[in-house]
Amino acid sequence: MANRRKFIAQAILGGLGVSIGRQAKAAVQLPFSGKASEPTVISTWNNIKSNKKAWKVLKKGGRALDAVERGVQVAEGDPDDMSVGYGGRPDRDGKVTLDACIMDEVGNCGSVCFLQDIKHPISVARLVMEKTPHVMLAGEGALQFALENGFQRENLLTEKAAKSWEEWKKESQYQPVINIENHDTIGMIAIGEDGNLSGACTTSGAAFKVHGRVGDSPIVGAGLFVDNEVGGAVATGLGEAVIKTAGSFLVVELMRQGRSPQEACEEAIRRITSKQKNYKEFQVAFLAMNREGAIGAHAIHEGFMYALSRGGEHQVMDASSFL
Ligand code: ASP
Repeated sequence: MANRRKFIAQAILGGLGVSIGRQAKAAVQLPFSGKASEPTVISTWNNIKSNKKAWKVLKKGGRALDAVERGVQVAEGDPDDMSVGYGGRPDRDGKVTLDACIMDEVGNCGSVCFLQDIKHPISVARLVMEKTPHVMLAGEGALQFALENGFQRENLLTEKAAKSWEEWKKESQYQPVINIENHDTIGMIAIGEDGNLSGACTTSGAAFKVHGRVGDSPIVGAGLFVDNEVGGAVATGLGEAVIKTAGSFLVVELMRQGRSPQEACEEAIRRITSKQKNYKEFQVAFLAMNREGAIGAHAIHEGFMYALSRGGEHQVMDASSFL
């Protein structure tokens, strides 16, 4: 099955290779028509349930922004997803702290980081974008803002996550584990029927991190970046490595210069592997889509995959890797 998926992914990427390049170049020359592509949803890892939810919104002609918000809410609310929202693994002090950001088709963005006790940080991030003159709220202030806006305080630490923390405490070693991020940080990009793009990214971050640590996921330009004239990109994996290279912004800028989404993701990974000497010890993956709907996905290590929804079909695709 994995091999078959790999074959399909490679066939699609290979098959699109030539035209993707041409389309990406055209994208920077043509004024935005608003009718560029067919509705599409992509998201990191294998969260088909999230994609299906987002797809439902697009199918009805809904806005890509609504699609990505509702889509990633599924992962946030799933107690079995141990790296996003409710059920996420806690930090080293046993606290579940959440990071999320969202970006729309005109470059508006909102973000929350180090937020506790709120199940859907993505929706708080959207409210920051829509109701405040700010982009990012952190910690207590973000919580206060959420409560003022009708969000309920909830305990997000499930029994399963608490158990894994108890296990971890026996050794108390912070060591990122490659691809433990299966079902991890969900980063999602969607194109609506109107050709407009939006993106969302939400996570409980690195398991057993230092209390107060914030990763790439709520940082616009690192965990997520969308430019409607070009495309969008999301990142997953070791947030520190992504921040150091302004990863998602880099991918979008490379697409703006004419690279296909696949080439852009590969170059962004190369930037990390050439500058960060310990790259073999951690995973980073980028997923991107240009405004024509061409897709790219590349990681440092094997094992990264993404969910693709288009034409009513939902598939998990294996991504290529540097190693
Ligand atoms: N990027 C996330 C973080 O560093 C975690 C992940 O995607 O694995 O917080």
